[in-house]
Amino acid sequence: MNKAFVVASDEFLAHQTGKTHPEQPQRYTAIMDALKKNGLIDAQHILTPREATNEELALCHDPYYIRLVQNEVEQTKNRWLGKVAMLSTGDVTISPESYHVALLAAGGVLTAVDAVMSGKAKTIFCVVRPPGHHARRAQGMGFCLFNNVAVGVRYLQKKYGIKKVAIIDWDVHHGNGTQDIFYDDPNVFYFSTHQYPFYPGTGLVDEKGFNQGQGTTLNCPISSGENSREEIFDAFKNQLVPALDAFKPEFIFISAGFDSHYADPIGSFNLKEDDFAELTRIVVQLADKYAKGRIVSVLEGGYHLEAIARSAVNHVKALI
Ligand SMILES: [Zn+2]
Repeated sequence: MNKAFVVASDEFLAHQTGKTHPEQPQRYTAIMDALKKNGLIDAQHILTPREATNEELALCHDPYYIRLVQNEVEQTKNRWLGKVAMLSTGDVTISPESYHVALLAAGGVLTAVDAVMSGKAKTIFCVVRPPGHHARRAQGMGFCLFNNVAVGVRYLQKKYGIKKVAIIDWDVHHGNGTQDIFYDDPNVFYFSTHQYPFYPGTGLVDEKGFNQGQGTTLNCPISSGENSREEIFDAFKNQLVPALDAFKPEFIFISAGFDSHYADPIGSFNLKEDDFAELTRIVVQLADKYAKGRIVSVLEGGYHLEAIARSAVNHVKALI
């Protein structure tokens, strides 16, 4: 069987969020164990992430906010008794290693971009945490410190001169941070299917981004419940595909949140694990058509351990 390239490191376990928090280190272990058990990865295909530099983070984040995260994480070391703290800008729990691990999560996406652009890999899945798509320019929120995908997009454009990039986000939540960062940019297309009304409250159809009316933001808010699966596929086939046929991205990122699985304790969509294979195939077809097959997929949410493990296996099988 073909092997998949992944970006992964046991260092991702070091971002502690507290015993009862849904965004727990075991999410990483569950996915990696399942990928190994299914023969999808081996040592040669696991790429070690590097830390993103401050300059790279600053492609998407306010320098003041980067320092704020660093300082607040530093403070947890002084009074560390195994109790996590809360970031002052929003609902993100932090612990002594959180800054380092967040730099690795963003940097891991840069490692993936380099691997794809050097021709080493065509597609790659980044098993990173903390997630990123809620992180705004100067505000961490929703378990996210830095916007891993957004930093990857800007790095790709800057280092490799790639102009047009699409981000496809099937996490059950709207990626408000990603939308914000690229809202006025005609060269970055952001597509999201998400439960609505739901956290964080953004992602309405009329939020269209650049040049309202013909923008490069495409939101598909979907009600929870039994029709959600059908509506998600309808949005992918009848909205995403024609939109990208017109936009013609040179490179595609996936914000791969598996909290849109029916078993997820937070989301109320009803995708099954094999649906992630089908969604992935739609993206692969678009990437083959316009982007030389180049896809960097990045883990976002997903909080049911067995569901995310099975979903990630299906996603990765369809990527390779
Ligand atoms: Zn989510």
